[in-house]
Amino acid sequence: MAAPKVAVVGAGVIGLSTALCIMETFPSCSLTVLSDQFSPNTTSDVAAGMLIPHTYPGTPIPVQKEWFKETFTYLFAISNSAEASEAGIHLVSGWQVFKNTPKEEVPFWSDIVLGFRPMSEAELQKFPQHRSGQAFTTLKCNCPPYLLWLEKRLKATGVQMYTRKIVDLWDLHSEYNIIVNCAGIGAHQLVGDEKLFPVKGQVLKVHAPWVKNFIRDGDGLTYIYPGIDKVTLGGTREKENWNLSPDPGATKDIFDRCCSLEPSLRRAQDIKVKVGLRPSRHCVRVQKELLSQGGVKLPVVHNYGHGAGGFSVHRGTAKEAARLVGECIAILQGSSSRAKL
Ligand code: FAD
Repeated sequence: MAAPKVAVVGAGVIGLSTALCIMETFPSCSLTVLSDQFSPNTTSDVAAGMLIPHTYPGTPIPVQKEWFKETFTYLFAISNSAEASEAGIHLVSGWQVFKNTPKEEVPFWSDIVLGFRPMSEAELQKFPQHRSGQAFTTLKCNCPPYLLWLEKRLKATGVQMYTRKIVDLWDLHSEYNIIVNCAGIGAHQLVGDEKLFPVKGQVLKVHAPWVKNFIRDGDGLTYIYPGIDKVTLGGTREKENWNLSPDPGATKDIFDRCCSLEPSLRRAQDIKVKVGLRPSRHCVRVQKELLSQGGVKLPVVHNYGHGAGGFSVHRGTAKEAARLVGECIAILQGSSSRAKL
């Protein structure tokens, strides 16, 4: 068969990184990204972009660990290259602090981040309301620059990108051989996935260039993540809330919680409020499906449902989705060579 025509639906971190993995693995593909929104208007643009995994209860821990390791290794190499500032990737050290003994004293990702260790008594003096903590160095993606960097790399390999809202994946069957669904929370409507639900998150992006270390309260609700130009202050988690409007009460609450962890933030300036819907699911859906109508078949690879941890595992799930695209190509090539016989 001729070069397979692949369409990736979605241009958040999952769609763009999946498209890149497909091009790296199958460079002869003709690949198009179709999305109703691109950066800076995706959920991925709102994210803090810290590489601290969120645990998916329905995905085996060894699989999640592999996805995180793959992502960490990939971004660590970028952070160590001349591309780092353009891609918006950098190392950041800091603390995760606990008021009570944490459920997991040694999380599954502790040997992937750098220098993971219990905090010393001297470090804990900075946090008088907390009893224990973990110090480590991880990576941070500055999300809009990283998304633009991914787009630039895709365009350089000849990938086409079009603004288009897809109502039904089947509508693409006459134009493409394989569809990759990376629609994030949009998959709720696009493929009718009732297991996918939004978790509304609000964050503040502030100017506070003196804050250099990350601080995360152990429950993950309050955090201070310094980036290249802005510090992200979080956050909120509102299950099943589809409303993208910022809540002024939440803004004050986030700011107060963060100032209680890092009092110098009282002098932060240029406070901007951002809201996004985490595409949440008990497990990420990285799966092949064969759609069929009237004897015509359309292979689909799903890659969505990354909830609160899409940046932390994106490269791992993108590689897995690209492997599944490879299986679809093999099936298509098998059926076209049988058709010739
Ligand atoms: P999206 O970024 O939403 O992209 C989906 C794409 O699909 C969009 O381009 C959209 O336009 C397109 N689309 C949807 N439906 C259709 C359709 N019908 N037709 C065409 N196109 C369609 N994760 C971390 O790892 N670390 C963090 O520190 C972190 N912080 C976060 C903070 C907040 C406040 C929030 C909200 C999230 C955070 N996350 C974090 C989670 C992370 O943002 C998500 O897991 C990730 O962005 C999901 O990426 P995605 O590409 O699946 O979704």
